[in-house]
Amino acid sequence: MIRDIHIQVLVLGSGPAGYSAAFRSADLGLSTILVEKYNQLGGVCLNVGCIPSKFLLHIAKVIKESQEISKQGVVFSDPKIDFNLIKKNKDKIINTLSNGLKSLSKMRKVDIINGIGTFIDSKTVLVKNNKENIHIHFQDVIIATGSKPITLPNIPNDSNYIWNSTQALSLNTIPKKLLIIGSGIIGLEMATFYSAIGSKVDVIDRCDQVLPFLDQDIIKIFLKEIKNNFNILLGTNIDNIFVKDNQVFVTLSNKINKEKKIYDAILIAVGRIPNIKELSLDKIGVIVDKNNFIIVDDQFKTNIPNIYAIGDVIGQPMLAHKGIHQGHIVSEVISGYKHYFDPIAIPSVAYTDPEIAWVGIHENEAIKRNINYEVATFPWNASGRAIVSNCSNGITKLIINKDNRKVIGGILVGRQAGELLSEITLAIEMGCDIEDISLTIHPHPTLCESIGLTAQILQGTVTDLM
Ligand code: FAD
Repeated sequence: MIRDIHIQVLVLGSGPAGYSAAFRSADLGLSTILVEKYNQLGGVCLNVGCIPSKFLLHIAKVIKESQEISKQGVVFSDPKIDFNLIKKNKDKIINTLSNGLKSLSKMRKVDIINGIGTFIDSKTVLVKNNKENIHIHFQDVIIATGSKPITLPNIPNDSNYIWNSTQALSLNTIPKKLLIIGSGIIGLEMATFYSAIGSKVDVIDRCDQVLPFLDQDIIKIFLKEIKNNFNILLGTNIDNIFVKDNQVFVTLSNKINKEKKIYDAILIAVGRIPNIKELSLDKIGVIVDKNNFIIVDDQFKTNIPNIYAIGDVIGQPMLAHKGIHQGHIVSEVISGYKHYFDPIAIPSVAYTDPEIAWVGIHENEAIKRNINYEVATFPWNASGRAIVSNCSNGITKLIINKDNRKVIGGILVGRQAGELLSEITLAIEMGCDIEDISLTIHPHPTLCESIGLTAQILQGTVTDLM
């Protein structure tokens, strides 16, 4: 028997995009149901993405800082890793936050239904779980089903040894030797964690540069800092790979060499694809692009009037805060507000050690786009706070449009760079002149002073320190 439910707004997927849309829809007075395939709310970000990875990176940072401080006169003994306790604590954090989402749903009277949603027609979704089948009839639906890791062809399917990011975060073993395929943000973050807890990590990428879209002066500092922690082999491909006797045998090749190597585990981190298979979008004719991302306009409308999509399932940048923002806008659009998604800048952070954080237009992009720009960098070895905190290797870089003196971009490398980025994001979003930042009094001694000082270099009130 099929149960029927009628509702104003149906949200498919409880990741950051989905729960934000569901909460805002309910706050705007719309009756709302949130459907989630898994028992836990929160999607990739909370369960197998942002939150567990940042917990592990926090551990990595503390280990590294405890090693560094020995040079300053405080010597700790070598860390003893209790992997089971780390895992328990990780799961506890996830459960606390996921239960928090449940409470927030309850407070707002957002009904949560467990199960996989599949379209029957443009007004009905079938939700199946192991107890029942439900037909949810809605006025509007928001698809927020997210994304999953790309798998590579010709790589054995053996989750004990060949991991994706979810398996890397499930903490089953500390591999003595770990190969990470892909030097994107996820690959680099996992390399940071596993090398800190004792794995010997190689990262390979077929590209010739790490994060090739970023400015090279920033990447150079990053590479110099991490070179004692893990190896990065660029312009490198995998020719052959097989699992035997609890080990993974790999042949790596670049333009010059071929090399056979043995690892205890391999992590594939080469990107993500949208979760659309179970939705049966073809049944209702929702248009997707060549990579299967759902095509939407700047109000998140698909080609079908009452069907909207947000978050990872509509494509890059695949970031939780982008999805959250979109979740709010789409609900406001459904409620009748004339709102659009038109951010001037979406910030990004690689939570490596040192962190890399960027927003707006980078220098190499400004060159490509023929923008009349001016740039200034402030080296953290001129920052008292960076020196006392043992992170003087960082830099802060700001870019302005020379024609109108507006801030158009910023990029930082250094410890806590991600925490410093919001000031630059706000400046870009508000259309600040560089003078606005240079006249803003920054507390001393802080790392964020470096932003004020970079602005003063651009204003000519401080001499260039580089
Ligand atoms: P998701 O979080 O993927 O949620 C989609 C939900 O939909 C899932 O719960 C899924 O089970 C459910 N679903 C799918 N299909 C159906 C169906 N048919 N019926 C019902 N439910 C369905 N981003 C950041 O901004 N900062 C970070 O630090 C960061 N770190 C990351 C680290 C890792 C290791 C990974 C993998 C990702 C990271 N991200 C980070 C990216 C971030 O996790 C995603 O951008 C974000 O989770 C996308 O949110 P979403 O709501 O669009 O989708």
